[in-house]
Amino acid sequence: MEALFPNNKCAVILGGGLTGLSAGYVLSRSGYGVKVIERDDVVGGLSKTIVYNGFRFDLGGHRFFTTDARLNDFVLELMVGELITVSRASKILLRNRFFDYPLRPANAFFGFGTLTSLRILADFCLEKCRGVFNKASAVSLEDWVIKNFGRTMFDIYFKVYSEKVWGIDCSRISSEWVDRRINGLSLAKTVKNAFFRMSVKNIPTLVDEFLYPELGIGRISDRLHEEISLCNSVLTGTMVEAIHHSNSLIEGIVVSTPGHADVVTGAQFISSLPLTHIIRMLRPAPPAHILDAASRLRFRDLVVVGIMVDRKRVTDQTWIYIPEKNIPFGRLHEPTNWSEKMAPEGKTMLVTEYFSFKGDSIWAASDEELVKTTVRHLERLGFISGHEVCDRIVVRVPKAYPLFEVGYEGLCNQLYAYLERFANLHIAGRSGMFRYYNMDHAIDSGITAAEAVMGKKMDTEEKVTEAGVLVGCEG
Ligand SMILES: Cc1cc2nc3c(=O)[nH]c(=O)nc-3n(C[C@H](O)[C@H](O)[C@H](O)COP(=O)(O)OP(=O)(O)OC[C@H]3O[C@@H](n4cnc5c(N)ncnc54)[C@H](O)[C@@H]3O)c2cc1C
Repeated sequence: MEALFPNNKCAVILGGGLTGLSAGYVLSRSGYGVKVIERDDVVGGLSKTIVYNGFRFDLGGHRFFTTDARLNDFVLELMVGELITVSRASKILLRNRFFDYPLRPANAFFGFGTLTSLRILADFCLEKCRGVFNKASAVSLEDWVIKNFGRTMFDIYFKVYSEKVWGIDCSRISSEWVDRRINGLSLAKTVKNAFFRMSVKNIPTLVDEFLYPELGIGRISDRLHEEISLCNSVLTGTMVEAIHHSNSLIEGIVVSTPGHADVVTGAQFISSLPLTHIIRMLRPAPPAHILDAASRLRFRDLVVVGIMVDRKRVTDQTWIYIPEKNIPFGRLHEPTNWSEKMAPEGKTMLVTEYFSFKGDSIWAASDEELVKTTVRHLERLGFISGHEVCDRIVVRVPKAYPLFEVGYEGLCNQLYAYLERFANLHIAGRSGMFRYYNMDHAIDSGITAAEAVMGKKMDTEEKVTEAGVLVGCEG
């Protein structure tokens, strides 16, 4: 058994994604002894950048944006000299035509045709009138979208795309999630923006420009790793297997590397591992109803297929959204439009995202099949010719998105209530809290968890803080 540090100023951090690394960075700078445990051979989790034969790409283009000045400064200070400004230009493929995304009314009006456009507006007005009399809150994504955008917009855009992303019917996706995710965005605001270019500072979904590390989003995690390593350690290639506790305190975790197992102890623990995994790793095990609640929370997985092309550039877009059912991937991006340095001179790549459930036909398909299918569809869309393809790569990303099925909040609350008893365990992060966190939220939750370790009094009496962290503390 390995004792970490002689005093109590030490923390073990489970998971080396942005959340765990941000926590480790803050604690290291405050003189804490820190050990970050990461199962992957590199840090960064979902926001790492893959480097492959001279090409670099994120697991789905990652844009950093925040309305929180503290988090903005955190990243600016960390990334001095590495950030470039990228203009956002995105398209969406609807009914075999590319539209600007977010939709611009004039463009949509002619694209959809006069009749459909009038139906969109009529539906929207109808729902607004209905809303005056019917105050019942929406339960599912379907209810929410119809209430806010009208039935026609739901059928044309939201239904197909959401069902492709989530893999379940819109009536089973919780409105709780969508309310947070599309926070502040309504048809009225979208229309106003298109005509009057109103300020979009507070609508993250519509932001026109953003900062991006020249060598890919993974550089943020790499920088955090470098800073932590100045005085502490990040153990990559190390898997957390079990979490031992007694008297409402975590005593140690069992970790493994190929052919070797060890126990790591510490005074405080921060976990950004999937909430459902943490529950299953506890020894002694939680009661059956808690294990059952954990087994009912699901994640959506992702398969990324990258196609390298022997040409300088294929598109001029940041993201291209593809709701169409007959095309198997849902989104693509071209990393060289984010930074020239993402590919060797004169070459580029297209990165496609297939939303999937581990074990389904997409997940189980061979790399060769996935590449063949991707190239065929990219040819059909007019982006490339097969003979231009100079390399390819397939990356399977488990647990990319928490799946917000109706009722998920109740299950999460049961798990939070159970985990609250562990005074020295702090739960943070996207999969950790089972929340739709972007990178700024992940960083925020890591910082807040570190502050809880350092004994900073939280603004709230609740154990789940504003930053979305479950803080372990006495009382
Ligand atoms: C396709 C896609 C596109 C996105 N685009 C954007 C974007 O444009 N802008 C934005 O702000 N955000 C974006 N996000 C969200 C962003 O990626 C996340 O918010 C952020 O990376 C979450 O960080 P995290 O540390 O909380 O979680 P994770 O990155 O999931 O980190 C958890 C870490 O724990 C490790 N781990 C798991 N199990 C174990 C174990 N048993 N032992 C040891 N280690 C373990 C994992 O390997 C991982 O490194 C996107 C996400 C996806 C999936």
